[in-house]
Amino acid sequence: MQIDHYVSQLLDVLSTRPDEIALRHGDEALTSAELAAAITGAAAALRDRGTGEGGVVALLTVGNSPATLIGRYAANLIGATVVHLRGINAADPLDELPIATQVEIVDDTGTTVLLTDAANLDRARKIRDAMAEPAALAAFGDFGDDVADITGTAGEVEPRAEGTAVLTYTSGTTGRPKGIGRGFGGLGAVVTKARHMTERCTMLVTTPLSHSVSSTVDDAVASGGMIVLHEGFDAGAVLEAVERHRVNRVYLATPQLYDLLDHPALGTTDHSSLRELYYGGSPASPVRLSRAAEVFGAKLIQIYGTTESWVIAALSPEEHLKPELLTTVGKAVPFVQVGIRDPHVRHELPAGKTGEICVRSPMMMDGYWKRPDLTSRVLIDGWLHTGDVGYLDENGYLYLVDRLADMIKTNGIKVYPAEVENALLAHPDVAQAAVFGVADEDNVEYMHAIAVPRRGRDVDPADLAAQVARVLSPSHVPAEIRLRAELPLTDAGKPDKLRLREEAKPATKSSHAKPESELTS
Ligand code: AMP
Repeated sequence: MQIDHYVSQLLDVLSTRPDEIALRHGDEALTSAELAAAITGAAAALRDRGTGEGGVVALLTVGNSPATLIGRYAANLIGATVVHLRGINAADPLDELPIATQVEIVDDTGTTVLLTDAANLDRARKIRDAMAEPAALAAFGDFGDDVADITGTAGEVEPRAEGTAVLTYTSGTTGRPKGIGRGFGGLGAVVTKARHMTERCTMLVTTPLSHSVSSTVDDAVASGGMIVLHEGFDAGAVLEAVERHRVNRVYLATPQLYDLLDHPALGTTDHSSLRELYYGGSPASPVRLSRAAEVFGAKLIQIYGTTESWVIAALSPEEHLKPELLTTVGKAVPFVQVGIRDPHVRHELPAGKTGEICVRSPMMMDGYWKRPDLTSRVLIDGWLHTGDVGYLDENGYLYLVDRLADMIKTNGIKVYPAEVENALLAHPDVAQAAVFGVADEDNVEYMHAIAVPRRGRDVDPADLAAQVARVLSPSHVPAEIRLRAELPLTDAGKPDKLRLREEAKPATKSSHAKPESELTS
């Protein structure tokens, strides 16, 4: 089936309701006609400056701002590849990669245009100046002679859709993020499907537009709905916006769902407009989910997926009312095939047998950008290997039981302990380091670190936290950093993380609430 360019389809939908509000951000409100004109105007301006197929537009704009959304639609409409440059965080749009990593990304992707805004202008200039082949700067507005203003009122553009549409970065095992490329076809399929939706979405977006929420946003625009952008997650602000704008769709990281449940204003907020409360990204607590189903009714939708695969499985609102299903992540969504494979011999396993969760899906990545070595490890015979371990029951429900890699899912990102241990060991006064995950009673994972100072040296855990934030990102900073004179070792002479995890357990809940300055030593 021929699928029209996803942005052309969105423009078609916007043209049917020109005067209705399509996008809100703070006090700013854009009608459908204004949003469409901003997209085609920016697309025409980028094209007139020589960008198009083969061009790469990196977005360094406030994560959840209109510029991020309009920038993606505009660049994709003319066939350019969009690179989300701010961060690797799937839950927190305020999180930001270090500038050195951003320079690596723009160089690696051959970025031709760096789209920025007032808040990021200085950083954008620094990145451009550090690039091997400096990109052109662009912005919505007049920011000086070296920045092209791509504000347009409307433009005629020929839609183009070849190659990689969007590059999203995710954690790598060495501290260097990996770029995940997605083609135009998958984005088009989502929008084509959503155009048949009968209910118009009013969607509140608090997780980063750079990550998995983006296809749900496209599908909300395709429904003829309205998008409300928040620059970060704040439970009180979410409740207020739901009541004020009669929001019917939200998309949260699982711990954010708990924050909503715990918020004092929940009882006095009118959230009756909500129809779809999506959450996911990390293991959920069945007890908390039962409570959420009591409060919200049949509206919860759990999503299981990865940045590489996009959505894999979902637990429906009705399934949330059956307590025995709250330990599953639901069933494969219609266009996704799930197979459980033996991680060693790679053949498919029958229902009930535990193995690696593998998927085939029109939404999955084409591969890691310029990393065929990494791609060939996870994309095998058309199947994407997730690294998650689980099983399917005879009714097709998927259960997650473990992960193949030593990985901690925390603060909205995947953290490989070795990358944080290396960042700690780079401190001149640290002799040894061990990083491990500890789950609290809600199954929320926190990162703990133990550092052993060199003999005779004093180390301040706050300095170590700052070092990790500088080298990796603020989200890589452990919830707790403790100093010890030595590490307990296993019989094989490796740090005994099982023991460290057991010892850390009682401290988990309280430690995560502490600000950085109060890290324990
Ligand atoms: P990311 O690529 O950052 O989205 O992280 C993907 C990983 O998060 C998966 O491989 C799982 O380990 C975990 N994950 C995502 N969704 C869920 C879920 N609903 N329940 C449990 N773990 C999840």
